[in-house]
Amino acid sequence: MITLFDHPQVKIMPKEMQTVQRVCAFIRAQVGKPPPPFDFRPRGEVVAYVNHGRWVADCPFCASAMLCVPHDPHFWCVECGNYNNQDAPMAVVFPANWRDIEQTLEMRRDARNQNWKPPETVDELVRENNDHGVRGIYMIPGGKVRR
Ligand SMILES: [Zn+2]
Repeated sequence: MITLFDHPQVKIMPKEMQTVQRVCAFIRAQVGKPPPPFDFRPRGEVVAYVNHGRWVADCPFCASAMLCVPHDPHFWCVECGNYNNQDAPMAVVFPANWRDIEQTLEMRRDARNQNWKPPETVDELVRENNDHGVRGIYMIPGGKVRR
């Protein structure tokens, strides 16, 4: 598993962070609190999983789950604003082989069947695909083809 802060291709995107700042400031204004002192260094981690074809992570502070994307390493809960995390974002932990997981799940036509949670392996996903008659070509790292 890696956090995307460790990924060499990931860059903090100031534009998206400005949006996050505005959303968090709005949430806090609803309860009469000033905008938080933004510090984008993460405090803690959340683990990403796939639910109905979407990468999501559960908020550890409330009952919400947020959509996550592999190119953005921040977790901000729009329900609670990470208020109980001292206003700090959390790092989203994606599996190192997230592309392989996506490729395998995308072979399933119905997004309701595109689900993955750690520690499930790609081999297990492929086995499930085969058990349910999902056919396709799956490229694994190194250029080998799995059918
Ligand atoms: Zn929350």
